[in-house]
Amino acid sequence: MKIETISIHAGNKLDEDSRAVTQPIVLSSTFERGKDGGYPSGYMYSRIDNPNRKSLENVIAKLENGADCCAFATGNTAGMSVFQCLEPGSHVICPDDMYHGLRNQLKFVFKGIIDLDFVDLTQIDEIEKYVKGNTRMIWVETPSNPLLKIADITAIAVIAKKHNLKLVVDNTFATPYGQQPLALGADLVMHSTTKFLNGHSDVCGGAVVSKEKDAFWEKMRNLQVLGGAVPSPFDCYLVTRGIKTLAYRMRGHEYNAFELAKYLEAHPAIERVFYPGLKSHPQFDLASKQMTSFGGMLSFCVKAGEEAARSLVNNVKIFTQATSLGGVESLLEHRYSIEGPDSKTPKNLIRASVGLENLEDLIADLDKNL
Ligand SMILES: *Cc1c(COP(=O)(O)O)cnc(C)c1O
Repeated sequence: MKIETISIHAGNKLDEDSRAVTQPIVLSSTFERGKDGGYPSGYMYSRIDNPNRKSLENVIAKLENGADCCAFATGNTAGMSVFQCLEPGSHVICPDDMYHGLRNQLKFVFKGIIDLDFVDLTQIDEIEKYVKGNTRMIWVETPSNPLLKIADITAIAVIAKKHNLKLVVDNTFATPYGQQPLALGADLVMHSTTKFLNGHSDVCGGAVVSKEKDAFWEKMRNLQVLGGAVPSPFDCYLVTRGIKTLAYRMRGHEYNAFELAKYLEAHPAIERVFYPGLKSHPQFDLASKQMTSFGGMLSFCVKAGEEAARSLVNNVKIFTQATSLGGVESLLEHRYSIEGPDSKTPKNLIRASVGLENLEDLIADLDKNL
């Protein structure tokens, strides 16, 4: 099956009693046991499993072409569970440009537990120099947040295989519509389902998909069930519903983002645009080879500096000034001011999550304010 069909059918189960076409939300925390003490429905207790969570995990695993998926309450919990599967003292190679919430989790929550190096993953010859005796994992985020840097998953997978390291890709920006990390050699894929997978900015969630059901994955499932940071049945229902339109939404996000990127690049008030679909992107060739869609995220720097950037995000009318991404509505964000003083993001940079409004309306909104 192709992505549009998987998205609609792999996360849905007809209700056998009511014949409801859309799978109902099962709120029950517990499930009746059989006379023999067994669990005839396969469900026991909702922290362990739930029909809505199972459907969500099923569709995300199929979209990423993986063996299995664990759904979590947020993207950060999904990431945390991956790191918790490592032995204390393990070393992880991370990108220098990375979602700041996960970077801070590694730096503060895992302080003294996980040994870290933040590396420019675009410099493929540099990565191997950071591998040492306790290195266990390479964490990749591509395109990265907020600079849209592209890391070569296939080339990094070769390094990971050689040194027996787990390769994990945060595929939140690209989505399975735009990039298939497991097919390129990754072992695990992580998502903040809060973003494009749900697509409507009304739920927080996360997921991890594994290529194989190996010992590491067994640990992960245990962490999900025993740690208990699981999404509610209603959250699972919402994300499963959002996923049904993923491919069509991503086509619209990409179209609008690509056109906006070209518009901004040609605008005299703009210093620079970061979008992997532009020929001016330093890794345009790699992005074209690795990605099946350039996605709906872009960043740009305003020539007139930080104040002008802040004024633009304040004055637009259709774009909303807010963090997060991947919803149907367009958002603009002055990124430095949310990342805090240790941020390396340029102060004149604005990140755009390009939504599904009419392109001419979006351009007019920016045009009036640039
Ligand atoms: C939002 C985001 C996360 C964290 O997800 P939450 O759902 O906010 O916990 C991780 N990685 C990337 C790339 C993100 O954009």
